[in-house]
Amino acid sequence: MFFYLHIPFCRQKCLYCKFALTPKFDELKVRIYIDALKTEIEEFFVKNPEVSIETIYFGGGTPSVLTSGQISEIFDIFRKQKGFSSISEITLESNPEDITPKYLAEISKLWVNRLSLGVQTLNDESLRMVGRADSNESIFRALDILAKGPIENISIDLIAGLPGTVPWQITADLEQIFSHITPKHVSIYMLEDESYPEEWKSLLPSEETIRDEYLSGMEWLQSRGFHRYELSNFALPDFESKHNQSYWNHSNYRGFGLAAASFVDTKRFTNSSSFTGYYWGERQEEEVLSPESRRIERIMFGFRTSGVALNELDNMNTVEKFQREGLLEIRENKVFLTSTWIFLIDHIIGELI
Ligand code: SF4
Repeated sequence: MFFYLHIPFCRQKCLYCKFALTPKFDELKVRIYIDALKTEIEEFFVKNPEVSIETIYFGGGTPSVLTSGQISEIFDIFRKQKGFSSISEITLESNPEDITPKYLAEISKLWVNRLSLGVQTLNDESLRMVGRADSNESIFRALDILAKGPIENISIDLIAGLPGTVPWQITADLEQIFSHITPKHVSIYMLEDESYPEEWKSLLPSEETIRDEYLSGMEWLQSRGFHRYELSNFALPDFESKHNQSYWNHSNYRGFGLAAASFVDTKRFTNSSSFTGYYWGERQEEEVLSPESRRIERIMFGFRTSGVALNELDNMNTVEKFQREGLLEIRENKVFLTSTWIFLIDHIIGELI
């Protein structure tokens, strides 16, 4: 099984962020939260002592606001389990400001073998406008520290189309990042329209510019040996995120913490997104996926990742029409979106299901 741990603390809140978190916290709040998280994890393993542990992902929020001692406390519960021997990937999300040689050495001793760094952009003006705590100076400092090890598997997050960025920002950022470190994995996200505060609207690049930024970033990465294995995710061979793939192929995953989502057998459930609700074990959503819902999800995930099996689709006239128009292509009995039209994914899926 794949495990996600949500750490809902950030030193300040980025303007576009929709994650469940609190930008105001103190030692007591962190302590209470860690204790509740540990209780939730321990109760799970009491009921499921034999479950194998494939990956652990510390996400957030900003998990790197936790000390290595606090991470160790949580991690120790997993290490004591019978299924721990099958673990292959432990990821920690981090912001550049938290990266120090000492912290890296400490977390690598806790078996953290993959670090996902939230860069977003190297444009200082844009970082300031969206309320990020970092500057490009602090990002370069973090990249230089990471380049010295000991964690080899580094992933970088970028966002295309932030306000204040310039055309070709993504490729310019990639050039600069790769002059400091060669990450094994890069994610390029595009903000959803509804994430934009009203006052940004006039500052945002056009949809066409964002699309060009994404495509040129993709080509830049592909020319350096990366391949796209999900709409927003690019990796060197063998460095695809095992954990994230569990979300896209309907593997069983269990999320612990505030607003954490789980999928176990055919059931999906989400913890409460309020601190008190979570503390008292409330869930905010619970649904059993019908075979038809699972088929629709396989189609949606398939278009984002490794293609959709032809026999999943029952609307072949539309498939053939989109194929003639160059939106889709068919290879080895699977249907794929073509790169040029990848931005029409929602429209295409809407017509096919
Ligand atoms: S650091 Fe990440 S999780 Fe925290 S506020 Fe910014 S976008 Fe949200």
